[in-house]
Amino acid sequence: MKLSEFEESKYGGGNNGDFLRLEEGDNRVRIVSEFAPRVTHFKKGPCTENENCPFCNEGDKPSYKFLCHVIERKTKLFKIAEFGVTIIKQLKQLSLDPEYKFQITPEYDVNIKRVGKDKETTYTVVPARENSPLTEEEKKVIATLKHPMMIVEMLNKSKKSETPPSTTSQTQETEEINVDDIPF
Ligand SMILES: [Zn+2]
Repeated sequence: MKLSEFEESKYGGGNNGDFLRLEEGDNRVRIVSEFAPRVTHFKKGPCTENENCPFCNEGDKPSYKFLCHVIERKTKLFKIAEFGVTIIKQLKQLSLDPEYKFQITPEYDVNIKRVGKDKETTYTVVPARENSPLTEEEKKVIATLKHPMMIVEMLNKSKKSETPPSTTSQTQETEEINVDDIPF
């Protein structure tokens, strides 16, 4: 959806349905929300992160992902990004760097460079050299977005079989999620 085509009345809570898919090469995005952690067991379900988790008790290790809203610059679409630890670590470094520091969201775009395939995949976060302000139109949409924590809750509530694979490879930073399965 192009921002110019965005109708708040039609979408109610903003466009919360599409997941960002990181393609080989450049993936320029603007992070526009805070992150919410999502802890899941591959093909099993969400992890409760305590002694009551049946999957942890089976000896299964959960995987950690972090959800946020982004604007995908290539398509100008708002999408939900699900980043793994390697990307989050790099964003954290930026947030602490004197030149790039930020509290919740950066005032610049970032390019997530994906190189290689499968287990050899690497992700490098490259910040834009200049800050760029969000447009009024973008700000309007951002104000309607669901908190990422709510999206995590909704994903966790969706049926186990619809939970996307989360540990097919440690290097896969985003997963394909069937948007129709998510009760937004
Ligand atoms: Zn668990």
